Amino acid sequence: PGVYVGVDVGGTKVLAGVVDAQGHVVRQARRATPGRRVEVRHVEDALDAAVREAADGEPIAGVGVAAAGFVDAGGERVMFAPHLPWQGERVRDRLAERWGVPVALDNDATCAALAEWTYGAARGASSAIVVTMGTGIGGGVIIDGLLVRGHNGMAGEFGHMQVVPGGRPCECGGRGCWEQYSSGNALVRDARERLGELPSLLEEACGGDPDLITGSMVGDAAEEGDLVARHAFESVGDWLGVGLANLVAAFDPEVVVIGGGLSAAGDRLLEPARHALVRSLVGAPHRDVPAVVTALLGPSAGLVGAAELVRRQERR
Ligand code: BGC
Ligand code: ZN
Repeated sequence: PGVYVGVDVGGTKVLAGVVDAQGHVVRQARRATPGRRVEVRHVEDALDAAVREAADGEPIAGVGVAAAGFVDAGGERVMFAPHLPWQGERVRDRLAERWGVPVALDNDATCAALAEWTYGAARGASSAIVVTMGTGIGGGVIIDGLLVRGHNGMAGEFGHMQVVPGGRPCECGGRGCWEQYSSGNALVRDARERLGELPSLLEEACGGDPDLITGSMVGDAAEEGDLVARHAFESVGDWLGVGLANLVAAFDPEVVVIGGGLSAAGDRLLEPARHALVRSLVGAPHRDVPAVVTALLGPSAGLVGAAELVRRQERR
């Protein structure tokens, strides 16, 4: 008895939702992520608040946590997280103790891949790639009917594939990572760098301080036809397609699903990505090039997958 709650802990926001047995989000709540240079308990407090608000007083049967970080193979610890303060923390047991209910823990994009495979855009596919575009880039790989996990449980960290040797510094400590060129952070950075090239709605939206520009401001401006914002999306979309070409060369999926907050931009992001994919993919004229589609569960895919994980665990 009780409801299953999934919670997606990203670099920008914490999104919790009650998820029913068909994968539908019944009630949702969100909090801002307190940051990455804060104490761990601040992030966990935000998580707790979002989960309680989503549950709305109903008894909780289990909580699935989708974390934007490297989760160990046992689903107990977040070993490392470029955008969150968790480093080797026993997140699963600590939260299970806090709530007094079973908790399942996995990487956010792995959870999104599970959800899209079970209920969404990758349903029925035996090989699929799921890429989540949020603060960073996350990845999930389904090959020949299996969700790939890898030796450490850390497979699919696409965001940190090096695409530009010696390129932009990344929160992970490396340089030239894909997510520095194609992600919510990359979008904002690109728009900031273009300010002044052309008149832009973003100048007013940020009140003259480019540091205050956010991803949703760029999204809104693009919607209204703003050229600076649209060019930023074209650049991020083009880089998305270049990285996808490498993933398709490596895994040969039937479909590529794009999720995460940025996927709300739809074709504004996906059209340039599709072009770059065909342009960059080895042997493109001699193969089925996979469709690049938005996640059916949209930005909720991660929390839906997390709820699915804990539900499956409890059914066993
Ligand atoms: C992290 C991943 C995460 C992704 C999306 C990346 O920077 O390394 O673990 O899945 O961001 O949140
Ligand atoms: Zn990196």
